[in-house]
Amino acid sequence: MANAITDIRLTVHRGTRQIGGNCIELSTADGHRIVLDVGRPLDARPAARHLLPKSLDLSTAMDGVLISHPHQDHYGLLEDVPAGWPIFCGAAAERLIRLSSAIFGKELPHTFHPWRSSVAFQIGPFTITPFLMDHSAFDAYMLLIEVHGKRILYSGDFRTHGRKSVLTRRLMAAPPENLDVLLMEGTNLGSDKPCSSESSLEDDFVDLFRSTTGRVFVAWSAQNVDRTVTLYRASLKTGRTLVVDLYTAEVMEAISAFGKLPRPSWKNLKVVFTSAFIEKYQRTGRKAFVDRMVRHGMSATKLAETPEKWVVMVRPSLIRDYVAKGVTPTPDDAWCWSMWRGYLKNADGASVNKWFKDGGSPATHIHTSGHSSPEVLRSFAQAMNAKHFVPIHGVAWDGDTTGFPSIRRLTDGESMTL
Ligand SMILES: [Zn+2]
Ligand SMILES: [Zn+2]
Repeated sequence: MANAITDIRLTVHRGTRQIGGNCIELSTADGHRIVLDVGRPLDARPAARHLLPKSLDLSTAMDGVLISHPHQDHYGLLEDVPAGWPIFCGAAAERLIRLSSAIFGKELPHTFHPWRSSVAFQIGPFTITPFLMDHSAFDAYMLLIEVHGKRILYSGDFRTHGRKSVLTRRLMAAPPENLDVLLMEGTNLGSDKPCSSESSLEDDFVDLFRSTTGRVFVAWSAQNVDRTVTLYRASLKTGRTLVVDLYTAEVMEAISAFGKLPRPSWKNLKVVFTSAFIEKYQRTGRKAFVDRMVRHGMSATKLAETPEKWVVMVRPSLIRDYVAKGVTPTPDDAWCWSMWRGYLKNADGASVNKWFKDGGSPATHIHTSGHSSPEVLRSFAQAMNAKHFVPIHGVAWDGDTTGFPSIRRLTDGESMTL
């Protein structure tokens, strides 16, 4: 029987029919409310502003904004969030979010409150327990929210085949009891994206590094820390040196306090200094970082001298500087696209592809998804055994959903009362 005083209202402001752009609100009848993620829609134009969902009320107080992980499609609209709303997320996530904001020259005015995995904390009437999970973003969490006797689990983004897979599997083996709602992502539903493990990728990279007589260029995301670790380990095993750009070095430095992770001072690791990046750092008032990296750095000219030594990060903004220093691809080099294959079709991907094609370097694609396979999504949803299963962060939830618990389908902005 519904009880108006203890009713909880769940509203998915955005994310019921797209991947990313998550924005979910939980509110109580007496006016307390929290927001789970304020993600930027993945298809938004870079310059577009004021993209918070219209159904989210910005005019009244908010007890807290909880950011599940530092991917733009989960935190990218923080700059539009009222400065007085407190932000909660992992400590490493805060550093990565602040680092990205600084690069775009926008300092966030908000107060951040770091949480710790498996340690419950209180925001008004809400008790939150964050669980560190396996995902391609570093410091990614699922959130258990308890309020007025109701229990909601928000999955964030997750998988079981990365370097933290044990964390997701542990939660599946001992799920939170008596869940009223499971809000779960479904990025890979309806797709056949590769979901092999990071350690099998490491073997593939070792083979590639061994069989290549020249340089191996790799395009990957600096924020995909699992992949940086994989490339570093494969470089160590094959006696090569991993060459990263200043931004990747800054990400490594930012999270070095949060685990035994490769960082600029480690052996077989170098930071390549390119004029475009140096200018950018100077322009945004962060020359001190560049100065700090000098002793771990090198000029791109070195890459032309002993090609067999290097595994080199590549992205469109680096290519111009590489060319200026005499670094151009050859048939002895190899190159690898280590991101989702679909990105190869956009302008950035196509320009990198063309650079190597013109140089006659053979191409490979070594990658694994940051999200769960459809099978894992099914077993996860079954294991959580929630009264209501509310799917989000996917485009195939209206297709074949055999094997999932019965679905409570919401539309963006629609509320459901618990
Ligand atoms: Zn996402
Ligand atoms: Zn994500």
